[in-house]
Amino acid sequence: MKQYETVIGIEVHVELKTNTKIFCNSTTEFGGDPNHHACPVCLGLPGTLPVLNKKVVEYAVRASLALNCKVANFSKFDRKNYYYPDLPKNYQISQYDLPIAEHGYLDIKVDGQEKRIGITRLHMEEDAGKLVHQGNIVTTPYSLVDYNRTGVPLIEIVSEPDMRSSEEARSYVEKLKAIIQYTGVSDCRMEEGSLRCDVNVSVRPVGQKEFGTKAEIKNLNSFRALQRALDFEVERQIGVLESGGKVIQETRTWDEARGMTVSMRSKEQAHDYRYFPDPDLVPLVLDNQWIDFIRESLPELPDQRRARYIQEYGLPEYDASILTLTKEISDYFEEAIEHYNNPKAISNWLMGELSRLLNAAGLDITACKIKPAQLAEMLKLIDKGTISGKIAKTVFEEMFVSGKEPETIVKEKGLVQISDEGAIASIVEQVIAANPKSVQDYHAGKKQAIGFLVGQVMRATKGKANPEMVNKMLQEKLS
Ligand SMILES: [Zn+2]
Repeated sequence: MKQYETVIGIEVHVELKTNTKIFCNSTTEFGGDPNHHACPVCLGLPGTLPVLNKKVVEYAVRASLALNCKVANFSKFDRKNYYYPDLPKNYQISQYDLPIAEHGYLDIKVDGQEKRIGITRLHMEEDAGKLVHQGNIVTTPYSLVDYNRTGVPLIEIVSEPDMRSSEEARSYVEKLKAIIQYTGVSDCRMEEGSLRCDVNVSVRPVGQKEFGTKAEIKNLNSFRALQRALDFEVERQIGVLESGGKVIQETRTWDEARGMTVSMRSKEQAHDYRYFPDPDLVPLVLDNQWIDFIRESLPELPDQRRARYIQEYGLPEYDASILTLTKEISDYFEEAIEHYNNPKAISNWLMGELSRLLNAAGLDITACKIKPAQLAEMLKLIDKGTISGKIAKTVFEEMFVSGKEPETIVKEKGLVQISDEGAIASIVEQVIAANPKSVQDYHAGKKQAIGFLVGQVMRATKGKANPEMVNKMLQEKLS
């Protein structure tokens, strides 16, 4: 079989979290009764005119600068014409040949390899409404239309076809999401649809210069779906080529239940959008002073934060990368170190126990019951010798479930570490008496035999004995 190379480009739509919509003052609030967040402008009624929301432009510029784009001094809005029931005007106001920003990039790291992914363009547009199906789109007997989302501001970010694997694609979207979240212009909630991905994917024999024929996969709404859909699609396309067939250019959708991509429409049915400049909106002219003003107000971005964690806190590169992967984790970490000045210890607990518990429960860190200050309190209990590091894991699990203070849990469950020499000494003697073989091994030079004896003492005390004390006492008794 030939070796194939995958080529991936991604379009990401991000909803901007302005209070009002892009061309009117209807609220952008998520949810609400159907069609209650829609005014005559949203509905495109005759005689209404769009008025551009300045905040949307500011947010788009912020995102553009954070993504290293060149912001245009002159851009304009165009009408993208098509008919669909969720689009009452029969056109979407977007930007076509003169977008607000171009020529950006972001850096990803996959398997220890740094890679720069180009960003072709970033433009502003309005969101469409939503069709509410009874069940799924194919079998629904009828659909309802909700215009609440109509006119919510979006930015669309188009990448260069620079990605070569589903891991790189995932890493790109993760990084993009983190950067946008750090700038504060969107909450980027994939599950609420405020960040949506369409991917273009093709394969070509290794060494071939021209791109293969691509398929577009629409509306991938989780990182898992993104990666699975790409892996499936790459296999499918290679299968088609290997069996002597041709990949056709088409739009496909990811069927989560069946774990496969399914054809929606082929190129022949593709839209001709008949773009033309929107006559209701004047071109957008931005002066450099305003752009620079926004540039100066940009917050610390993930790469800068990662560098600071390495320099200022002495964290390993790996820790710093994981901790800055999302703004939520990073903010959690920063709040915790305000209460407990040992960044590495906090980092270990975040990347270890906390991430294990969150994964098992399928939760996001924002839904975590353990507050950063409580994690700090628990670490102080270890330092004071009140609990051992091992018992701390039990306490932590309990905190995770109940959200109670660590001290309360330690008291309620009687988990205070035994540091009383007399109490430990008698158990140490019992363990020595019960394990003559290990004692013999130890005296015969197998120093690691002491580990087994320490384990036995810890077991007898249900993990509550102070391990350092146990170790020291065993060594004394055996010498
Ligand atoms: Zn409106």
